[in-house]
Amino acid sequence: MILAGDIGGTKTLLGLFDPLTARPHAVHMRAFPTAEFQGLTAMVRDFMTDGQVRNAAISAACFGVAGPVLGSTAELTNVPFKIDAFEVSRAFAIPKVKLLNDLEAMAYAVRVLEGAELQVLQQGEAIRGGNMALIAAGTGLGQALLHNVGGRFVPSPTEAGHADWAARTDRDIAVLRLLIERNGRAEVEDVVSGRGLPNLHRATHSKVCEAGIDPDDPGAPAALTTAALERRCSACVEALDIFVDAYGAEAGNAALRAVATGGVFIGGGIAPKILPALIDGRFLSAFRDKGAMRGLVESVPVKIILNEEAGLLGAAVHAADLAG
Ligand SMILES: [Zn+2]
Repeated sequence: MILAGDIGGTKTLLGLFDPLTARPHAVHMRAFPTAEFQGLTAMVRDFMTDGQVRNAAISAACFGVAGPVLGSTAELTNVPFKIDAFEVSRAFAIPKVKLLNDLEAMAYAVRVLEGAELQVLQQGEAIRGGNMALIAAGTGLGQALLHNVGGRFVPSPTEAGHADWAARTDRDIAVLRLLIERNGRAEVEDVVSGRGLPNLHRATHSKVCEAGIDPDDPGAPAALTTAALERRCSACVEALDIFVDAYGAEAGNAALRAVATGGVFIGGGIAPKILPALIDGRFLSAFRDKGAMRGLVESVPVKIILNEEAGLLGAAVHAADLAG
């Protein structure tokens, strides 16, 4: 058996998988509120008390972490939560334990995802030998590259969500000014993420929000996207339009940076929730708006990952690789 985890600032998913097929099969899964545990070892200990896991011999484990991984340890960006691969290995006698950046883990899922788990946004034509790119807006914004090395896709992490945001329109420039006033600079994640949506709400609401949303409320991101999709407030609709434009443009930037002629995958928790706003042409129009490079990005297959557990699945795929 193998153990996999997707460790987020709010929620962690742990799963026990059977690695005998190309796509590891989940035997047991459980979600944990991350902040209620001191660290990964305590959480795995709790998971091990579940009946399906108690007597399992685990040959390898892999965990995707929403934060930078430094060798065998990692830290979450906003939660004091200790993650130490050696400690997990010793505590549960697991011979191989590996930590990955959460998007790097999700990238390992790409090779086993099935048709029904993907929504095709642009058919394109994948080029043999081409790289792939993954971009995922959830609480934050993650990106990963999948380098094509002799036909095998090797995931590589990035911190691209913290790179500078490229404003493209007068409306974007007004948002950029507001972000610089508030934070001194504007990261892509300040716009294209759950954390970014309240910024767009502030930038578009010069008068009262017709949907009654307070951007400082923790539920604001979900409330804003719902109000926009239901067209209950014109300024919320504008905020979601800016979000979708910026998401499409940044996905196009990821395609250019990686020369991702093998395909661009859109992961993360937000895309499946705003599908109608992503498939109406706005996202692709921004994705393709790359001047002389338009022909290149038009040829790139673009697919939305609908499986919200792709991060956990990817960690399981890599744990199976480790188990050999
Ligand atoms: Zn509104």
